[in-house]
Amino acid sequence: MNRNRIVTPYTDPDRFTTEEKAAFDAGNCCCDEGDSDWGQRDTMCRKPSKRGASFGYCGDHERALLENHWPGGSPR
Ligand SMILES: [Zn+2]
Repeated sequence: MNRNRIVTPYTDPDRFTTEEKAAFDAGNCCCDEGDSDWGQRDTMCRKPSKRGASFGYCGDHERALLENHWPGGSPR
């Protein structure tokens, strides 16, 4: 598997929930910001996606992801 590939709901459908895919399709960051301990579902970032960012993340979350992970999502 290419660790530098870009992950999307179309390459990796099992890595996205329905809500995350909807955010991705709307061009919004689907990074989960909140804890889900209380069953909150709508805790996504929703800032505009950075063009070409893996997971459709915004620039901030792409940078955070890439600090510890390859674009494909595997730990560095
Ligand atoms: Zn974000």
